[in-house]
Amino acid sequence: MQGREPIILVHGGVGSIPELEIPQRLGSLEAAVRAADELLAAGGSALDAAVHAVAEMEDAPLLNAGWDCCLNLDGEAELDASVMDSDGLAAGVGAVRDVRHPVRLARAVAERTEHRLMVAGGAGRLARLLGLPMRDPVSGRARRRHADLLDRLRDGGVRGSEAVEAFAWRRLPELSELYGLHSTVGAVALDMQGRLAAATSTGGIWLKLPGRVGDSAVIGAGTWCDGRGAASATGMGDGILRLSACRAVVELTGLYRDVGRAAKEVVAQASAARVDCGLIVLAPDGSFAVQHNCRHLPHALVTGPERTVRSGT
Ligand code: ASP
Repeated sequence: MQGREPIILVHGGVGSIPELEIPQRLGSLEAAVRAADELLAAGGSALDAAVHAVAEMEDAPLLNAGWDCCLNLDGEAELDASVMDSDGLAAGVGAVRDVRHPVRLARAVAERTEHRLMVAGGAGRLARLLGLPMRDPVSGRARRRHADLLDRLRDGGVRGSEAVEAFAWRRLPELSELYGLHSTVGAVALDMQGRLAAATSTGGIWLKLPGRVGDSAVIGAGTWCDGRGAASATGMGDGILRLSACRAVVELTGLYRDVGRAAKEVVAQASAARVDCGLIVLAPDGSFAVQHNCRHLPHALVTGPERTVRSGT
């Protein structure tokens, strides 16, 4: 291996993971960093690695991105993703329906169009035009969960489709207590040339209103990368958007030259605003932070000369 030592770090979303699911979730994250590390070791770019890791996680069950993602109030999947690198490449896609790897579509938007954010039908049309693989991401497990969440709302006294809609409209944080889990995926990478990249992908939030786009599609909120650092966020996206969390944490990383302090500060801002938030952040010197205010933030990484995979919750 020549040049500097590359790093790949991924997350699998903040929340509270049932004990029984932890091994499978960490297994998917570890497989993703291993695959991305092969690209980095072969001289691939940080962007290649971050996008590849996220695409692998989009194919994994249980994680809330791509296949088996969460569903909106109408029981449909609407996927958000974004990518950015330290050379200035950046784009996001929102509310896409049947694209197998929304993160690859976000990269294509960045590399092949003049646009920075594309949504819904037009984004899907571009994916088809470019020949990207398509797939309906709705799994049987997600359908059952959707029905179960609606039942629990009704048991809680919210009856009738209008009442459910009104509830979802105003009380997303209460809804999130029903399911207690986010499981969005994200990656940050540093390559042998010292370039950084970040990527994020999600199905969003259970029972979100149809048409809602969250932080994971939005450059600055769910994803940010420049010469000072790379960051991917997870949590209540509507609050993370207001904080511009990823841009904020990279700016503070540049200011403090201390990635841990920067991540703590932005997560503290999220806590003060009562926003569930998790961040992974990577600085150009290879230092990194995994910071959150929930029970778990599953993550995995490959660093160091031995290229060993480490993971944790
Ligand atoms: N941030 C995502 C969203 O709000 C959800 C998550 O992190 O799991 O769409």
